[in-house]
Amino acid sequence: MNNNIKTILITGGAGFIGSNLCEHFLNKGFNVRVLDNFATGHRHNIAPFNNNHNFQLLEGDIRNLKNCHQAVEGVDYVLHQAALGSVPRSINDPITTNDVNVSGFLNMLVASRDAKVKRFVYAASSSTYGDSESLPKVEDVIGKPLSPYAITKYVNELYADIFSKTYGLETIGLRYFNVFGRKQDPTGAYAAVIPKFVIQLMKHESPVINGTGDYSRDFTYIDNVIQMNELAMTTSNQKALNTVYNTAVGDRTNLNELLNYLKEFLAEYDANIGNVEIIHGPNRAGDIPHSLASINKAKILLGYKPTHKIREGLREAVSWYWSNLK
Ligand code: NAD
Repeated sequence: MNNNIKTILITGGAGFIGSNLCEHFLNKGFNVRVLDNFATGHRHNIAPFNNNHNFQLLEGDIRNLKNCHQAVEGVDYVLHQAALGSVPRSINDPITTNDVNVSGFLNMLVASRDAKVKRFVYAASSSTYGDSESLPKVEDVIGKPLSPYAITKYVNELYADIFSKTYGLETIGLRYFNVFGRKQDPTGAYAAVIPKFVIQLMKHESPVINGTGDYSRDFTYIDNVIQMNELAMTTSNQKALNTVYNTAVGDRTNLNELLNYLKEFLAEYDANIGNVEIIHGPNRAGDIPHSLASINKAKILLGYKPTHKIREGLREAVSWYWSNLK
């Protein structure tokens, strides 16, 4: 690694969002170090960076404080992405989710405080809005968590706030809303809906929608999330620090519309995909009907301007899945 340039630690850097952040910041000339235990991440996500002199992989676990202290040595900024995602996973195994998402998070805060990192930016979650029915979601109005996962992500925000106030650690939490895009894992029991649907449609298998398909989400393309991480990491606006931001587009799309868009874009590669039938199943535990973010706070305090609305993002994501996984 080059000693004259700034170093970013990306925890969970072998995962979907983390590996996209690695690529972006390596292209911008930063040193990038990854801490990952490959619980859900993949070596192939970071394989393209292995020959880059500015890239370093530390294989380790955020549940191990020693690993966290090693990882933050000489680091300027932390972009903390490592966690166990998925609401159903947390319902099946709340203890492991809590160990990683809460104890691991606390370890990373302690290590970052001890190493005097300049800023700790972390992946928060729209699940923190819980059962609040108000739309659009504004950062100050949250409800009760609906899953163990949502509790862990809310606890992250509480700890970050206390570390800012007590130890002066600069923190920013990014409440991601249903992120999608290149490198998102389509496999496994806990795969997110967009990559899962794309792969099923590519195989002419019928995707199953939980419920009637009128549940809606503020689906957010990965490039918007990268932009928010960069703004949070680099902002010099003191009023923008030690708080949380919705990281979204500010539009909502229901699942029926989502599948229509996917079929439309995939049919450009294989016309038969346009005829694949959609199946409807029961609603899933822990799901709220609608989610839509206000992005005003991020626009005003960070200067955020999302570059991709859902259709633009889906078109790019579909093209990536077609050329990489077909
Ligand atoms: P991902 O599963 O692809 O990435 C998570 C990474 O963390 C993986 O590489 C995994 O191996 C690593 N990891 C897990 N446990 C670890 C541990 N104990 N020690 C070290 N590394 C560990 O998930 P993602 O979608 O890229 O999510 C990244 C972050 O964003 C997570 O914190 C997640 O909760 C949050 N988030 C994601 C979304 C979304 O829509 N994808 C929405 C809200 C919040």
